[in-house]
Amino acid sequence: MRFFIKYLLGFVLSVTAVAQDVAMSDHARKTLEIYRTIVGMDSSKLGAARAPDVAQYLSEEFWAAGFAKADVEIVKKGDLVGLIVKYRGKKDSRKKPILFLGHMDVVEANASDWVRPPFELTEDDAYFYGRGSDDNKFGIAQISATFIRLKKEGFVPDRDLIIAFSGDEETGMETTRLLAYERPDLAEAEFALNTDAGGGDLDVAGNALTYRIQAAEKTYVTWEITARNPGGHSSRPRPDNAIYDLADAIKNIQAYKFPVRWSDMTLNFFEETGQQLGGELGDAMRAFAEDPMDVKASDRLMIESSYVGSTRTTCVVTMLRAGHAENAMPQSATATVNCRVFPGVSVAEIEGVLKKVVANDAIEFVMLGDPTESPISELRDDVMAAVRKAVHARYPNVKLIPYMESGGTDGMHFRKAGIPTWAVSGMFMNPDEMFAHGLNERVPKKAFYGALDHWSIIIKELAGP
Ligand SMILES: [Zn+2]
Repeated sequence: MRFFIKYLLGFVLSVTAVAQDVAMSDHARKTLEIYRTIVGMDSSKLGAARAPDVAQYLSEEFWAAGFAKADVEIVKKGDLVGLIVKYRGKKDSRKKPILFLGHMDVVEANASDWVRPPFELTEDDAYFYGRGSDDNKFGIAQISATFIRLKKEGFVPDRDLIIAFSGDEETGMETTRLLAYERPDLAEAEFALNTDAGGGDLDVAGNALTYRIQAAEKTYVTWEITARNPGGHSSRPRPDNAIYDLADAIKNIQAYKFPVRWSDMTLNFFEETGQQLGGELGDAMRAFAEDPMDVKASDRLMIESSYVGSTRTTCVVTMLRAGHAENAMPQSATATVNCRVFPGVSVAEIEGVLKKVVANDAIEFVMLGDPTESPISELRDDVMAAVRKAVHARYPNVKLIPYMESGGTDGMHFRKAGIPTWAVSGMFMNPDEMFAHGLNERVPKKAFYGALDHWSIIIKELAGP
């Protein structure tokens, strides 16, 4: 009997799949064509570096759809490229533009490690496969095809809509910086919507649990802290020792709790997530949302690795390097301390706190890289309503929950530049199926076809007549 049902179900599914092919709209066909073409271009840094090809190909698609030559611009930073596309609104409009973000580059993929060729869009009954099929060529294809669709429909927005795609989001973010800080025309935007994060979570049965809106990113910053010592022969130990000094510093960092931090956005996150989770953890979340100074609640959340980061700055020791010979006293000992700083707290302040915590003036601090501090984008009713409409068209009643990410999308630079940014991808999938950055990256076909109207609903709400 079970076999029979399975067989029957398989039959029904394949008939549906065929029907979908036959009935595929022009928009679905165009979106798939763009998706297939750009996944087929290796735009990883170590690969063929074909982000310029992606930009060139998309430009031609926009021109063919009727966008003016001058409104489609490939911007360059050395060998790197970004893409700006302006969908002109009504001439007399006084409303400021909306930006749409995404990135054309992908993480490297070593073909010999993959079951399928990474730089080709392949498929079976349930999935599309390929590097970038999720991150972020899904978003690039969906928003690009939506611009083309609306143009062909003759839609005239009541404000300018501007695509700003970066070309090296996964690596140096040079083109992101160019777009966020060096373009006065983009700086005028009222806000930005990012295709590269956010989205819906499904359970194994395919029911929607929540829809997440990325509204903030913590600041990612790393220090190397070093203890030094004259050292000497290990047969004649001296009381002071670089490794011991560093160990003391590390133990102090381990014991230190950064103070609790919150915003309207994070309290809302805990209220909603607490209601949804229920149980003793859910109660702690709701107690925290009610009163973030409730120590019992914040201590409870502190032992949850998934949630501690939304309650405070965190720092953790991730690497060690010390000594130079088995029979010599160490001349230096270095630990790597990686921190995720709560928005609104400066990196300089955290360095000051860490120096007090290690309580040893002789420990040297060296900050690595150039951290980007960005504020929280507090929610706006009009944006929430537009996203809610798009989400509820597919999954009625699902809750929209804003969240803070540990850091890593183009959004942080736009937020830093003063443009509130929310990531609101049209992707709905089971988090366990997420292989972005990993091997055999894939996207359920249902997620791809389900998202076809996501951006046009949002755009018509925010810029329609
Ligand atoms: Zn991405």
